[in-house]
Amino acid sequence: MTERTLSIIKPDGVARGVMGEVIRRFESEGIRIAAMKMIHMTQAQAEGFYAVHKERPFFGSLTEFMSSGPCVVMILEGENVIAKNRELMGATNFKEAAPGTIRADFATDIEKNVVHGSDAPETAAFEMGYFFNNFEIVG
Ligand code: GDP
Repeated sequence: MTERTLSIIKPDGVARGVMGEVIRRFESEGIRIAAMKMIHMTQAQAEGFYAVHKERPFFGSLTEFMSSGPCVVMILEGENVIAKNRELMGATNFKEAAPGTIRADFATDIEKNVVHGSDAPETAAFEMGYFFNNFEIVG
């Protein structure tokens, strides 16, 4: 089934110069980029995005990190792309991420883990709508 998902190259990924490599991995898997832009979130905007985590002990640190520099936000499209993107990303904790995944190769910390990807159709819908309107998604 063709799906769409939200991907973010987090501030650590942009700062460390791996934007091109992350996008290359998506493209080489046949994933289509349906929307893309660079943004620098305020902490309040990051709090809105990560609202589901507001009770977690790392919420303040995470939202401070996500607003510490520019991110690349993208809508990825393809067959089962929600799960496929999660597979390419690797586990949240880079120490547990499978070899060859983005996080295993580039993450430096459980928080500074280079990429975000929606984990289900419902979260994908919310997350895509958080950053993009219909005119920014190319068909
Ligand atoms: P994801 O779906 O793999 O991104 O993982 P989660 O939804 O569980 O967590 C969201 C983000 O919060 C992760 O990608 C990390 O950047 C951060 N995070 C998760 N667990 C921890 C933690 O234990 N400590 C800190 N500082 N950050 C965390």
